[in-house]
Order: sequence, then C-alpha cells, then structure tokens
Amino acid sequence: MTIVDKSFMPGAAPLIDPFGRAVTYIRVSVTDRCDFRCVYCMSEDMTFLPKRDLLTLEELDRLCSAFVGLGTRKIRVTGGEPLVRRGIMTLFQSLSRHLESGALEELTVTTNGSQLAKYARELFACGVRRINVSLDTLDAVKFRAITRWGDLSKVMEGLDAAQAAGLEIKINVVALKGVNDEEFPRLIEWAHGRGMDLTFIEVMPLGDVEAARVDQYLPLSDVRKSLSERYSLEAIDYQTGGPARYARVKETGGRVGFITPMTHNFCESCNRVRVTCTGTLYMCLGQEDAVDLRAPLRSSESDGPLEDAIRGAISRKPKGHDFMIDRTTKTPAVGRHMSVTGG
Ligand code: SAM
Ligand code: SF4
Repeated sequence: MTIVDKSFMPGAAPLIDPFGRAVTYIRVSVTDRCDFRCVYCMSEDMTFLPKRDLLTLEELDRLCSAFVGLGTRKIRVTGGEPLVRRGIMTLFQSLSRHLESGALEELTVTTNGSQLAKYARELFACGVRRINVSLDTLDAVKFRAITRWGDLSKVMEGLDAAQAAGLEIKINVVALKGVNDEEFPRLIEWAHGRGMDLTFIEVMPLGDVEAARVDQYLPLSDVRKSLSERYSLEAIDYQTGGPARYARVKETGGRVGFITPMTHNFCESCNRVRVTCTGTLYMCLGQEDAVDLRAPLRSSESDGPLEDAIRGAISRKPKGHDFMIDRTTKTPAVGRHMSVTGG
C-alpha cells in the first residue's frame, strides 16, 4: 500500500466545520507575556508559562504554514504582546513567503503599540498592510491606570511610525463603564482625523482579573445608541474577515466598528480558530474544548499527523459561545485570560 503524505498535495480539502463554516482565518498567540497589565485582561501578578513550553518560532512557522496548506487565507499574530517576543520579526519574514506566493491573503498583527516605533517599517517590509492597535483612552493618566504599566507617549510614537511606514491602522477600544465611556466621541474624532478606523469591543468574561466584570461591562447597544444621538451612523457592509459590524460616521467620514460578543452573538459567521503559544488549538474563544497540536507537530517531520489533528479539531468546532455577565455569575465564563488565547 502506498502512503500518501497529504501535506504535499496542493489544494488539500479546505477546513469546513460541522455547521458548514469554512475556517480560513487563524489567530496565533506567539507569547502570553506582555509589557502592560490591562485591568480587563490580566491580573497584576500574572504567572506566565515557562519559556520551554512555548513553540519555537520555527515551530510556529510550520504550524501556520500547515494551516495555509489547508486553506487559511488570513493570519493574525497576537498575544500577550506579540512584539515583545524575542526574534518575532523572523516569524513575519518567513510567513511573508505565503503572501508572495498568493496562498495567504493577509498577514496582520494586534498590538498594544508599545514596540511599533521599532518594528513598523519591518512589518511593512514583510507584507503587513493593516494592523490593529489597542488604545482605550487618549488621557495619559487614565492610560496608565487602565494598562497599569503602559506609557501613552510610546504608543503615540508607535502610531506615528506605523503611519509613516504606510501601515493602515484600526484602533481597538474596549468599552469600560465609567472609565472611558465619556471619551468615545473624542476617540472617534481623533482616529478618523488621522485616517484610522476605530472599533469598540465589549469586555468579555475571560480569566480572573481583580476587577468585577459587571462593573467594567458596558453593552455596546447603549454605546451605539448614545453615539447615534450625536452623529449620523450609517450601517455599511464593510467586512475585514473579523467579527466587527461597521457603520460610517457621516460627520467624520470614518468607519466605526462594534464587536459585540455579549449583546449580539456573532458566532453564526465565525470563520476562525485560535492557536496559543504552546500550540493548543481553541476552536472557540468562549469554550474550553481544545486540541493539542504541539505533540503531532513534534512527533514527525512530515505534516501529516499535524494536519490530521487540525482536521479532527475543526470537526469539533462548537456552534458558538455562551458568555454571560450579571450579578449572579461570579466566575469567569472561561478560566483562561485573553492573553493566553490571543485576542
Ligand atoms: N497585546 C495586544 C493588544 O493589546 O492589542 C494583543 C493581545 S490583546 C489580548 C488583544 C485584544 O483583546 C486587545 O484589543 C484587548 O483590548 C482585548 N481584550 C483583552 N482582554 C479582553 C477582555 N476580557 N474582553 C474584551 N477584550 C479584551
Ligand atoms: Fe497586554 Fe494586550 Fe492584555 Fe493589555 S490587552 S495586558 S496589552 S495582552
């Protein structure tokens, strides 16, 4: 009998989950570490994984490349803070070959912006064209309070460098009740004034943090309502392959997005899965079920076992999550922090 190694077969069958959704987008967390400690994401004294548990950059490249071979069109590198991982540019450099071949449509990154001044040009040179930068406030004191360790001026330098390098930027703002809600119009006008899109995100109950989620949580339905009292918001069907729904703000001409995992479940159109820095594949951000890809990756030089594990995982992708934040729910819906699974 001839054993055929599927990893060498061009056009291998794409990844389709049990609900008929094609999985074409992976988010890869390259580290669980970060130079910030955002109050909604981490506790102040986080314990991080020992370095030996992490996939090497070569292994991350092999893993991403196996996904590309199975029809992945978009890779988002995330974390933790992806740009604090030592040598991270070598991963971008090696993955850029898939952009050059046309196998991959987009290689992108979500970052807190602290290292952008250093890396923006290199990212652009590796074929990255659009990036997401998380920034919840323009007030330096508030920024320090939210991120605990962050320095707003560094992020601003990073944004300048990124735009100078030619990168398109989308600003991600986590909506935090009583913290940054007063500032939304200012944030929108600032972002649009610089030609950047801005997306609001509802805080999700991921991992234990010191603050009570119910105190942080601000439904975006309320945000949208109050923004529409001030601006004309016109729903548009702009898509970036992610879960945001967009509107155009007539007064600024810019786009504002809403990611509403809590008030409006977006699972029906989910096209993505997440891989952690240890090679654990989570089929859904809001569920515990996961598949280890590190063992099959390390078990063989051929990608066959890895691809079989990926296919097996996709055949178990759940229909959706069931997050809930209320006064009676004391424990997080999912025990792992966002910095583990990757945002
Ligand atoms: N460090 C990078 C950054 O902050 O952009 C990438 C990783 S971070 C985990 C990705 C995104 O997740 C950020 O936009 C962050 O604001 C968001 N995030 C973190 N914890 C969250 C939570 N509990 N609910 C909603 N969004 C969260
Ligand atoms: Fe770090 Fe990003 Fe989490 Fe903030 S949201 S602590 S920047 S990983």
